[in-house]
Amino acid sequence: MNHPIPLFSAERVNAGLDLHTPALRVIDSHWYVLGNEVSSFEQEFAAYCGASACVSLANGTDALELGLRALDVGPGDRVVLAANAGFYGSTAVHAIGATPIYVDVNPETLTLSADAVRNALRNEQPKAIVVTHLYGQLGDIESIIAIAEQAKIPVIEDCAQSHGAARDGKRAGSFGTIGCFSFYPTKNLGALGDGGAVITSCTEVDKRLRQLRQYGWGAKYHVTVTGGRNSRLDEMQAAILRDKLPHLNRWNAERRHIARRYNQAFSGLPLRCPASLGDDYVAHLYVVRLAGRDDFRAFLKEHSIVTDVHYPVPDHLQAAYASPTDAALPVTEDACNTVVSLPCFPGMTDEEVERVSRVVCLYFEEKTR
Ligand SMILES: *Cc1c(COP(=O)(O)O)cnc(C)c1O
Repeated sequence: MNHPIPLFSAERVNAGLDLHTPALRVIDSHWYVLGNEVSSFEQEFAAYCGASACVSLANGTDALELGLRALDVGPGDRVVLAANAGFYGSTAVHAIGATPIYVDVNPETLTLSADAVRNALRNEQPKAIVVTHLYGQLGDIESIIAIAEQAKIPVIEDCAQSHGAARDGKRAGSFGTIGCFSFYPTKNLGALGDGGAVITSCTEVDKRLRQLRQYGWGAKYHVTVTGGRNSRLDEMQAAILRDKLPHLNRWNAERRHIARRYNQAFSGLPLRCPASLGDDYVAHLYVVRLAGRDDFRAFLKEHSIVTDVHYPVPDHLQAAYASPTDAALPVTEDACNTVVSLPCFPGMTDEEVERVSRVVCLYFEEKTR
């Protein structure tokens, strides 16, 4: 029997890294929150992304929530976003009492459609637009920012799946007013627990976020902004992330290499592969689209290959929030019914990529027999 091939393996990604040294550095320093590791990581990550500042936070959802707050989005305000990105952006929008305005995605990339944004702005005056670079694919961020600038609306990038994705040398998170990141362990840059950050080149936003993440303090015990929270990255996670950051480009290249091999193996099969294999795609997830998803997944499972669906329910149809008056989003809804994620992670062996490719081809051979 073949060994199971997981969707992701932290053990493989972290193989060869010495994670004890950074952990011990923090233990021996006896300083655990908002210290040297955090401020150093913030500088190093901002420099990597090409932004002037980074404010680290407890997780990626907080990055979106506090990012919106830093832009003065609040109760009753409207926020434009896609509905196929796992409800993370929606969680943040609801947390601040704002209302999500869902628009459809581009059928090629499954990221927010610039045309749909343009159409939405004919009837809407949202307070912000969130662009999610889904699956590691940089969205149509330049066009959307051009549209948003005309309407004087700030753009937030959700980069939780796209650390290091770049177009013309410019990295995810450095296009919009704010870029939000998660360092959840499965992300392209993952901590040993929860973590998140916002990057920005706006000094006002930077200052506001530093207050928001610590009770709204302007100075210790002096609350000068409303909506403050406790949301901080701890020293241990920051130390681990500092040691991992220099490996991010290599890991992204490995992920992209796997995606390239899959795309080659699947050419000619009745399934839709990721649109790009360039620098603008860091293959956080390798997602194909096909009819008959359940049979396909069952076949791969029989062959000990783990798959998943990112994501099965579009945000506007989630049980807790669905409203019958919501407009249809045909591309989004079709994607939710057809997407399947295949194993794609740093440390995955050539043999494993080969085996997944073979089993996928076998599925279609047996189906057409
Ligand atoms: C993981 C993820 C988040 C949320 O990050 P957490 O750290 O889990 O809160 C937000 N957006 C996207 C697109 C994600 O994939």
